[in-house]
Amino acid sequence: IAFQDLNIEKNILKAIEEMGFEAPTPIQSQALPKLYGKKDIIGQAQTGTGKTAAFGIPMIEKVNPKDKSVQILILTPTRELSMQVADELRKFAKYLPEVKSLAIYGGQPIERQIKALKQGVQIVVGTPGRVIDHIRRKTLKLENVVGVVLDEADQMLDMGFLEDIETILDTTPKDRQTAMFSATMPREIENIGKKYLKNPEKIKV
Ligand code: AMP
Repeated sequence: IAFQDLNIEKNILKAIEEMGFEAPTPIQSQALPKLYGKKDIIGQAQTGTGKTAAFGIPMIEKVNPKDKSVQILILTPTRELSMQVADELRKFAKYLPEVKSLAIYGGQPIERQIKALKQGVQIVVGTPGRVIDHIRRKTLKLENVVGVVLDEADQMLDMGFLEDIETILDTTPKDRQTAMFSATMPREIENIGKKYLKNPEKIKV
């Protein structure tokens, strides 16, 4: 299967071709059709498998660029991963200049992030602690969120973020689409899947 056969929006297709992506990776060819089909998914995939594009491309396509509110929330365990994911999303959205992605994480002055959020961003990629902080300050509103991704969910649980993740998910609309990625599938991950995802389809690569 080729990227051209996956129904990817043409501006994103152009960007990924320029990035040198020649063929979809297994997680991409499996996850893209499911996410375009509005399914929730649980993907068991390690770093380096191309999972960022697997969830990032469909999530970018869910954004209404005319609406400047936060519509997609991606949670990651670390500051580095949040920055890396936001950077990659900006590359995919190179030819969709109205779609803005922002990384928010602990360790960076919160004022800077508040200012950036005020400019209007549709995709927020963040670490759970800092996301909670913004929710409490009312500098991050999640009422218009249509898509949520939990990236490296097992790592987030190992770091003690379960309660924060649950609080954040409870703050987003119930009719959202949710994708969870994890390298391992311990009981706790299965439990999040049962509690917060709707008939999730599993993908393992
Ligand atoms: P990830 O697993 O999402 O962190 O991706 C690992 C690396 O592979 C990143 O540098 C991506 O830009 C790159 N990558 C993702 N998908 C593809 C693809 N289909 N072809 C070539 N490189 C890719």
